[in-house]
Amino acid sequence: MSDLRNKRIITVATTGAWPTKDNTPNVPIEPEEIAEEVYNCWKAGAAVAHIHCRDDDGKAAMIFEKFEKAVGLIRAKKDCDIILNITTSGGVNLKEEDRMRPFYELKPEMASYDCGTMNWAHTTIFENNPKFLEKLGTMMQEVNVKPEIEVFDPGMIYNAGYLLKKGFLKAPLHFQFCMSVAGGIKASTKNLVFMKETMDEVAPGSTWSAFGVGAGAMEIMYAAVAMGGNIRVGMEDNVLYRKGQIADSNMQFVARAKRIIEEFTCEVATPSEARDILGLK
Ligand code: ZN
Repeated sequence: MSDLRNKRIITVATTGAWPTKDNTPNVPIEPEEIAEEVYNCWKAGAAVAHIHCRDDDGKAAMIFEKFEKAVGLIRAKKDCDIILNITTSGGVNLKEEDRMRPFYELKPEMASYDCGTMNWAHTTIFENNPKFLEKLGTMMQEVNVKPEIEVFDPGMIYNAGYLLKKGFLKAPLHFQFCMSVAGGIKASTKNLVFMKETMDEVAPGSTWSAFGVGAGAMEIMYAAVAMGGNIRVGMEDNVLYRKGQIADSNMQFVARAKRIIEEFTCEVATPSEARDILGLK
């Protein structure tokens, strides 16, 4: 087996909760579009697909049938072994049961786990209260779904440490450092180093990935690769490929991530290698 330390996982977040067809006509919204995009991103080098679905108007929602359809269509592509990571936060102000049902019934290998409450984008409260996080962690263990611990500031890393100590999360943890979401920590190399060092102190032996929203996106991508981390790309986080240029597709982001990893003389992890790195087997 080749050395996994030299491998970097690309996660693609094709859709997210916010970008609309008005923001970019290229964002996949319907389950059929999402499944096709995920398949093509897998061909381009993505090992993990982070899945959101929308309602019939394209708005943020957690409608079970939409997830069931998208996941079913991806699983029907028999050559595609991409790791599925279903969101538990399809938007803000959604019912807890609706947030948990897709991963609980569809049993992807991973699901997102937002490790704290925040003032989201200066507009509303993104609520992940302590009891909900305990319930979410327990239910993920019940169905053997690995949480991807999304943290938007360093305090959320300490929340993860607490939940780990109490048994609601199980080591080894996998973190996603989400940077420059308004209300959270800014995307900069200095901050990424701090996040990573905090993680090492709180939960040694964890794996991690990172992305920046907006102007800091490229800096975080390069810094994460240089620091031994994994990267997430896609229209959930950025609809612009570069300043003033709307991305053609999510595949365009994956292809650039692959080039950056390879220029750094690392290799892009296949889904199978990513399963080894993340302890999914
Ligand atoms: Zn998401």
